[in-house]
Amino acid sequence: MKYVVCVPDGCADEPLDSLGGRTPLEVASMPTLRSLARRGRVGRAAVIPVGLPAGSDVGNMSIFGYDPARFHTGRAPIEAAALGLKLGTDQVAYRCNLVTIGADGTMVDFAGGHPTSDDAMPIIKALDEQLGGEVRFHAGVEYRHIMVAPATWVDAECTPPHDLSDKAAVYPTGPAAPHLQRLMDASREVLAAFGSKANQIWLWGQGFQPQMPSFESVFGRRAALTSAVDLVRGLGVLTDVAVVDVPGATAGYDNDYGAQRDAALRALRNGTDVFIIHVEASDEAGHAGDVAEKVRSLELWDSEILTDLVSELDGMGPWRMLLLPDHATPLRLKTHTSDPVPYLLYDSEVTGPGGEYTERFVADSPVFAGHDLMAQLVGTRSPV
Ligand SMILES: [Zn+2]
Repeated sequence: MKYVVCVPDGCADEPLDSLGGRTPLEVASMPTLRSLARRGRVGRAAVIPVGLPAGSDVGNMSIFGYDPARFHTGRAPIEAAALGLKLGTDQVAYRCNLVTIGADGTMVDFAGGHPTSDDAMPIIKALDEQLGGEVRFHAGVEYRHIMVAPATWVDAECTPPHDLSDKAAVYPTGPAAPHLQRLMDASREVLAAFGSKANQIWLWGQGFQPQMPSFESVFGRRAALTSAVDLVRGLGVLTDVAVVDVPGATAGYDNDYGAQRDAALRALRNGTDVFIIHVEASDEAGHAGDVAEKVRSLELWDSEILTDLVSELDGMGPWRMLLLPDHATPLRLKTHTSDPVPYLLYDSEVTGPGGEYTERFVADSPVFAGHDLMAQLVGTRSPV
């Protein structure tokens, strides 16, 4: 039995006037997904447990099958793992965004104009040289980087920058806030020398590195993943899920969906039991409020990933699929919500009750804990 987990990041949404009162999932042309939903089981999952932030770190931890209420310690420590940083108990990791703040103090762009990783590298190096010492800066991917600080700096209330889009930037509060404020202020001068769209750093998402049992020890299956997002890759590192590098996989609209599909099929043919495909583009479109790109990313999922994936898997033997986003990113709100999301479970050997993979179809379904779905997917009983 082979297992595929599909994660269109943030794909769940709300009905939109501009789409005639429908959601992106309802208007996108997704014939393969529709046919899977007709023969599988759809429902609603709480991927963001009550009381935890509606972040991709929390949602993807649920999808991996780990209860975030037990294992989540913050977003930055997971991303630090993806950069190969094993932190001591005396260290706390902060997420360090390159952001653009307007002259009036508005968060103009939580992604700092989307620099390339190559463009960001010298900026992070300069931050480390000029502001480093007690803290260290580590270059990550595009606008997403890591700062490692002393453990005593953990105590601060920080606002995720993507929750502040087009709003007044709300700076940290709490005991460690003065340290963070000093660095964010000082970063303006460092960034000014580069002439980039980003004009300062934003520190948030801090935490200690969690101790997570390996995926194989929990689920008895060998797993691998593809993702262009460092925190999803970091979850792989922390759970011993193999992280496959896929040239062309990006966190943007130019993602090579077909390359991720081929990587999944290659791994599944070569002994991997469970393969997780994560694509960020739908979340980026949600944050940008870009309806057309959100619909397009869903249609590319269908035409570039699901269609050939299904026919190839059918030729390999019995297989199952779990498809769901790690949270909703409604276009109207341009940020994540904690609302339950639709999930699809499919079993090539068992016909389920069937349904439609839309927010509307599952609106009255009972809500299951997101982290229980992985155990259902790989369980001895069919999940549909
Ligand atoms: Zn996400």
